[in-house]
Amino acid sequence: EKYVYDFSEGNRDLKDLLGGKGANLAEMTNLGLPVPPGFTITTDACRTYMQTTKLPPELRVQVTMALRRLEDSLGRLLGDTNDPLLVSVRSGAKFSMPGMMETVLNVGLNDASVEGLATFAGDARFAWDSYRRLIQMFAKTVLGIDGDLFSNALDAKKKASGVMADTELPAEDLRALVDEFKAIVKAESGRDFPQQPREQLDLAIEAVFNSWNTDRARLYRRRERISDDLGTAVNVVAMVFGNLGEDSGTGVCFTRDPATGMVGDYGDYLPNAQGEDVVAGIRNTLSLADFEQLDKKAFDELRQAMRRLESHYRDLCDIEFTVERGKLWMLQTRVGKRTAAAAFRIANQLVDEHIITLDEALERVTGEQLNKLMFPQFDPKAKRKLLATGMAASPGAAVGAAVFASSTAQEWAEQGKDVILVRRETNPDDLGGMIASVGVLTCRGGKTSHAAVVARGMGTTCVVGAEALLVDAEARTVTVGDRVVKEGDIIAIDGSTGEVFLGSVPVTPSPVVRYLEEGLDVALSELAEDDENTRDLVVAVHEILSHADAARRLGVYANADTPDDAKRARTWGGEGIGLCRTEHMFLGERRELIEHVILATTDDERQAAFDALLPLQREDFIGILEQMDGLPVTIRLIDPPLHEFLPDLTELSVKVALAKERGETGPEVDRDALLLPAVVRMHEANPMLGLRGVRLGIVIPGLFTLQMRAIAEAQAARIKAGGKPHAEIMVPLAASVMELHLVKDEADAILATVAAEQGVELDIPVGAMIELPRAALTADRMADVAEFFSFGTNDLTQTTWGFSRDDVEGAFFNPYTEKGVFSVSPFESVDRLGVGRLIKIAIEEGRSTRPDIKLGVCGEHGGDPESIHFFHEVGLNYVSCSPFRIPVARLEAGRAAV
Ligand code: ADP
Ligand code: MG
Ligand code: MG
Repeated sequence: EKYVYDFSEGNRDLKDLLGGKGANLAEMTNLGLPVPPGFTITTDACRTYMQTTKLPPELRVQVTMALRRLEDSLGRLLGDTNDPLLVSVRSGAKFSMPGMMETVLNVGLNDASVEGLATFAGDARFAWDSYRRLIQMFAKTVLGIDGDLFSNALDAKKKASGVMADTELPAEDLRALVDEFKAIVKAESGRDFPQQPREQLDLAIEAVFNSWNTDRARLYRRRERISDDLGTAVNVVAMVFGNLGEDSGTGVCFTRDPATGMVGDYGDYLPNAQGEDVVAGIRNTLSLADFEQLDKKAFDELRQAMRRLESHYRDLCDIEFTVERGKLWMLQTRVGKRTAAAAFRIANQLVDEHIITLDEALERVTGEQLNKLMFPQFDPKAKRKLLATGMAASPGAAVGAAVFASSTAQEWAEQGKDVILVRRETNPDDLGGMIASVGVLTCRGGKTSHAAVVARGMGTTCVVGAEALLVDAEARTVTVGDRVVKEGDIIAIDGSTGEVFLGSVPVTPSPVVRYLEEGLDVALSELAEDDENTRDLVVAVHEILSHADAARRLGVYANADTPDDAKRARTWGGEGIGLCRTEHMFLGERRELIEHVILATTDDERQAAFDALLPLQREDFIGILEQMDGLPVTIRLIDPPLHEFLPDLTELSVKVALAKERGETGPEVDRDALLLPAVVRMHEANPMLGLRGVRLGIVIPGLFTLQMRAIAEAQAARIKAGGKPHAEIMVPLAASVMELHLVKDEADAILATVAAEQGVELDIPVGAMIELPRAALTADRMADVAEFFSFGTNDLTQTTWGFSRDDVEGAFFNPYTEKGVFSVSPFESVDRLGVGRLIKIAIEEGRSTRPDIKLGVCGEHGGDPESIHFFHEVGLNYVSCSPFRIPVARLEAGRAAV
């Protein structure tokens, strides 16, 4: 088995095997960019290591060979006493997990080679600085020693020497610090810091493998839906040094602004620094413009590399680079993460620049990103108290109570409070707090700092580098001039402008929503002349969404129960109603009428109640059909168990008993006394599997009759009014074709009667909801009667798995995801293997009986991107989702088709 690949052997398509970092390092090497040489240990090796908990023996051999090749190509030996080769040992999984896993730099330094490095570089300060960094990182990552012990010792040393920055510490101090660090290692781990370079290397490789399974890495993966079994690759890279003085440095850059998508160079540069210094916000960074001033030659080279990479990947790239004594080295690149707005703008820009096609643009954006853009923003006209301005790191408008610790953020969020996490800078340990917060605010670091990168990834509003803020985490305050914000005080942050406000600020709808509702011209005309950013965004959404509409095969319908919902659905692009629930029409004042139906002791009494309901239902349907004129409206006959319309059994029993005891009288007491036996009679142990859906229609004579008559009369009324109504009758919870026959016969009779009464032609199809396994498995028979199928995937999921949604979410969803039974709730994303299989069977069988049968899905899954791709693949005609999800569904249906 080949476990080790030199950079020259890999390429960007090998991300599964080499991880993203390794694959892209190989790609850059092949492009001829200045990448320090190195090799990648595969994710396969990591998976083997995780199973056996030791490094595979062939791996040791292959590492030796790769290391020898590396040493030979450079003419230096790992950890040699004279001009030593040093390496970094870097994690790199298939999907980037910023800041989640470990990297060890300067591997190969020991008491002897540090002298060799000092002599060769002619810089003792640099050599000792590198050595202390190795011990610090190695101790933390490999030996699991608390990192604070080292940073505290470093701070103490700076204080003792009276310097502010670590770069000002002289060589002697750093040498002394190395001794202190070694003492800490010995005291904490009971062993000496390993001096053997190869031992350092092997231990570091194992530590990187182990970092795949830290709590924070697992938490991150669960959130991002990344599988736990992928494993990480390990990259061993010859060290280059950004800490060799003022003509050296390290930086991070983007080929376009990852927050807004604007064209240009964006990045941070830190002279005389190594590795994580830039993202850690240890010192304030320089802009790329400053870097250009500082070192024109290196900057120009970087610029060229950026252009090269962007043309090669045809997308926004982010890059890590280091300058060693004026020489540029590329240390990492990848197609960069970006905000939702930037994703749309960049995709559309690249189309305009003829770099990608519209189909590709569609692949570059997601429904979730569009969804984010539909969130409100701060009202530009509202009054506000500006506290400070930082950098816009991740957009959105967040209002919440200021908190200063990750743990507080989590506690308060659990109590239902909106919190904004305020930190000098964040580090990987803050992940839990960041997830719990509606916004993140820091006073240090740039657009590429930990807070910015992680918040962008999560879609959490974030402002970084608000330097005017003095954050005191101990005192739990943030001070700006003479203003003091205490823990719990409300603040507001604007992740699109970087502004921080004291107190709450009202929010307004997003311009994308204006566009969806009013069209492009109106939305653009409402924008300020100079607001090009928003203009570009609205145009980009328009272009890409229009392309999705042209490309998609799936229709997008809405679940809508009222004329208002129907209207909204239509403006947002809904092409019909896939689920109109009628049970809502029996609530409120009408509840009493349904009580009469249930309590009726004679047919006449019951009929009287139906007669009273008929005009009400008819008017409901007329309103909806009017809004959806010309488009299909699928009306589901009543579905829930009837006792949902009655008082709760326990409550009513107590009420009746109390009234009796107190000798109370009156109409309410009489009514309750009448109701109680009915409620008792209707009580069910398992209502989800009880008397509901089509069973009600068959057992309670007249109930479906009423509803179907109301539908027929509404259709007739709309036809007479000159409309083009397309009502469809949908039968819920059928398991047997006999149930459908019974309903269908009744429907035919009613439609004929109403057509005759009204003198119009009524063409109203009757179809079945497929939401029980038996219905799916006998779909060929169901299709004898049903003119359409609509998959009710909520119930189909419940009945296929045999658990109810309400119970699974509260009681065992968490342990089930933790133990890997689900990776995602089957109620959120359709379970392809089980529920999906039933759907496929039903489609095939249904079509065998009725080739032109119309097939759709209603239920939560209709608005879920993953599920939409599945429904496209299996060839449904449409998905139906909540009106708010329609744009997402349109986009995803388009993405599924390209
Ligand atoms: P992450 O995935 O967290 O970004 P990296 O493996 O990229 O971790 O490394 C952490 C830091 O160390 C980065 O800033 C990177 O540029 C720097 N670094 C990694 N390898 C080398 C090397 N061989 N020479 C110099 N700097 C390096
Ligand atoms: Mg990196
Ligand atoms: Mg159902």
